[in-house]
Amino acid sequence: MVSRVIPVDPFDLVIFGGTGDLARRKIIPGLFRRFCSGQMPPEAQIIGAARSEMTDAEFRIFTAEAIAEFGGSAVVEDGMLDAFLDRVGYVVIDAKGEGGWKELSARVRDNLVHAFYFSVAPSLFGDLAERLHEHGLAGDEARIVVEKPFGKDLESARALNAVLEKHFDEHQIYRIDHYLGKETVQNLMAVRFGNVLFEPLWNAQYVDHIQITVAETVGVGGRGSYYDQSGAMRDMVQNHLMQLLCLIAMEPPAKFEPDAVRDEKLKVIRALEPVEPHHIVRGQYAATDTASGYRQDVENLRSFTESFMALKVHISNWRWAGTPFYLRTGKKLKARTSEIVVVFKDAPHSIFGVDAGRHRNVLAIRLQPNEGMTLDVTIKEPGPGGMRLVDVPLDMSFAEALGPDAEQATEAYERLIMDVIRGNQTLFMRGDEVEAAWAWTDPIIEGWIRRSDVPKTYDPGGAGPEDALVLMHRDGRRWRELKA
Ligand code: NAD
Repeated sequence: MVSRVIPVDPFDLVIFGGTGDLARRKIIPGLFRRFCSGQMPPEAQIIGAARSEMTDAEFRIFTAEAIAEFGGSAVVEDGMLDAFLDRVGYVVIDAKGEGGWKELSARVRDNLVHAFYFSVAPSLFGDLAERLHEHGLAGDEARIVVEKPFGKDLESARALNAVLEKHFDEHQIYRIDHYLGKETVQNLMAVRFGNVLFEPLWNAQYVDHIQITVAETVGVGGRGSYYDQSGAMRDMVQNHLMQLLCLIAMEPPAKFEPDAVRDEKLKVIRALEPVEPHHIVRGQYAATDTASGYRQDVENLRSFTESFMALKVHISNWRWAGTPFYLRTGKKLKARTSEIVVVFKDAPHSIFGVDAGRHRNVLAIRLQPNEGMTLDVTIKEPGPGGMRLVDVPLDMSFAEALGPDAEQATEAYERLIMDVIRGNQTLFMRGDEVEAAWAWTDPIIEGWIRRSDVPKTYDPGGAGPEDALVLMHRDGRRWRELKA
């Protein structure tokens, strides 16, 4: 299968925080891959802008090293790297002062798309927006890209929105949730709205429950001090898991267009019921003989921040009344996996009698690793001995089905950056969406603070605290096993 690459128009992309970790690991290597694929035109220009003293030549060396380390294994034609580096420059800039701004304005070319990637701490967003405006760089051709975390509660998210909206219209603001750039996440929409098969069954009448899991095997790593201020609820649930929930639960938009899709997602968030305290499980991974626990990792032995979270959530609307959504995410779990599992109800009547047992259709959509889908269907167990039933998966690995193109699928960041250049906001969060998500999250967090809730410890390498299993068992259900 040959993929079609449609080049974007020439652009200037300024990466504020161009010498930072995110730029090095994701943004720069992603841009290089798009350049090699022919999507990024040769006339494009990338300008790193950060506080570190560097020349253009030094930033090109930094860029080449980032590509060597994080660029992936794709075979690159001779001369591609040099051609890419020719498009790269650097300006020393201070977001909080005047240094570097005149030089930046001189380098940004007129009559082109200008994208400004704010790959810096959110405390600098206001300063950057202000300086861009002062230096005439906030015109209609300008787009700004902002990273998560977008606030830590409703109040701070509103303040951030206000700061950005002072100089930029909503159609110029691209709030990244890189989960939305994943191939399979978009496939969720293709599966739901491109097939006649699923949509008629996609409701409380036929769906027993839905599970959304984002599990990691790693601990907090070097992000300890940030993570301890945030926790799984703010770091994962409020954004990534809620976005997945929205795509699974939303009504079909009239068109695959930014506001049509985002209006439907917003309706889902607004229909979320407050969560009962006994439907919330928080956990912290424990130390083992050989490895430190969460509290040692964040260097806060009295920390009550959660590294695991499980929730039972209800959506108050006609489609989903009575169908629970179980969400879980955590660190140091048994497998690194992101999966959405739609468990359908039993057939209304079994003509095979009770001895045939209970059988259910289960649609599992794997986001990582091995992106793909399985659909468990019930068939007769082969061989003699009467009508014995067995569930077997119809397994579709995208890499197997679609060939090498799927394996080299565009990574989330590069897809999203190209969407910024194209001016397509479908896969970005709108301001009201982010605020609605915090409006739902805040009372949950306030509730556990009020109750002085202490997270349950769990053994690394497992499925989280026992209480998370109980959350499902109480309802006569169980989590799908965590498998890599
Ligand atoms: P980092 O600390 O590695 O880099 C910060 C960058 O900001 C550096 O280039 C630094 O020179 C620049 N900077 C700092 N103060 C400045 C100032 N006053 N003026 C101009 N430049 C200044 O941070 P990072 O990990 O690259 O993260 C950047 C942003 O992306 C943060 O908001 C972070 O929360 C978010 N983010 C990062 C990751 C990741 O994987 N690193 C993932 C998701 C979100």
